[in-house]
Amino acid sequence: MSVAIRECGSCSACCTVIGVHELEKGTYETCEHLCEAGCGIYAERPQSCRTFECQWLRGALEVDGSIDTEMRPDASGVIFDYHPDTAFGEVFTAWEVEPGASASGRARSIIKGLEERFLVIIMTRGPEGEGGSGDRSFVGPPHLVAQATDVMWSRPVR
Ligand code: SF4
Ligand code: SF4
Repeated sequence: MSVAIRECGSCSACCTVIGVHELEKGTYETCEHLCEAGCGIYAERPQSCRTFECQWLRGALEVDGSIDTEMRPDASGVIFDYHPDTAFGEVFTAWEVEPGASASGRARSIIKGLEERFLVIIMTRGPEGEGGSGDRSFVGPPHLVAQATDVMWSRPVR
């Protein structure tokens, strides 16, 4: 697990976009504990929130050495998440905060760099909108994408 080197500031994107099963909070559903100052239960937040590895917060995924507030998820429109996986090795998830944001700009450059080596799950808000499960697609080395297409659809992303 890597260590946060940045601060969230006014971003709270993950508290809406990413599901928290302990709270029965679905993806793309705003957490009931989110308040103006941030997480209202920070000291007691669930394990899913504690183990979530926002790659921007950790200073990872730099393309040109200049990742900064432009790439903070509320500005870039994409949250990059990472988790080790027994079947796929290391897996990155690009969660779209803004529809279409993963397909352009520096977010796209980051995904292009990752997909050469890793399975990348791209999560987009589904047609059902807030509280919907979101749609997922895969990019990466062809053998990993084929394997993910076979086995990953039934798995929750988080
Ligand atoms: S998406 Fe990242 S930067 Fe934004 S609130 Fe969550 S952890 Fe912080
Ligand atoms: S419990 Fe706190 S950290 Fe977790 S999603 Fe809700 S507001 Fe965010």
